[in-house]
Amino acid sequence: MVELNSYLDPCATRLHSIEGALLDYYVTYHHWPASLQELRPIGNETLELSCPISGKPYIYNRLGMERPGDARKLLVYDPTPAHQGTRWGIAMDRDLTGGNPVPEVISIPEANFRAYRPAPPPAPPQFLQRPGTQPPVVQPQQ
Ligand SMILES: [Zn+2]
Repeated sequence: MVELNSYLDPCATRLHSIEGALLDYYVTYHHWPASLQELRPIGNETLELSCPISGKPYIYNRLGMERPGDARKLLVYDPTPAHQGTRWGIAMDRDLTGGNPVPEVISIPEANFRAYRPAPPPAPPQFLQRPGTQPPVVQPQQ
């Protein structure tokens, strides 16, 4: 198990900048960008959208990737396990459609990465009653 420090690694540093810009975008627009190219850097940071080791662009999946046993969803990740057999990625700690998610830059061993699958699209809105039925009578609060 390789433990890498996300504050010392140049690839993770790039992902920390992307992570901040992603969250900033989400807070502004209440949805995820269609592509990482829509992001704007925060402050005087620069956004580098590729891994400094492999030189390949990060992969972005706005619905997230998920794996059994991990509630987080992976949104951005290294295209190859260029870091001693691991990839860096940005994981969100909760459902991507409600509230403001809390992102985290994580190191993913390749065995774990292979277990990731695309998350299903968000469920359609749930209706509490079928069309044509009376809505429930709501008593005003006393
Ligand atoms: Zn990388």
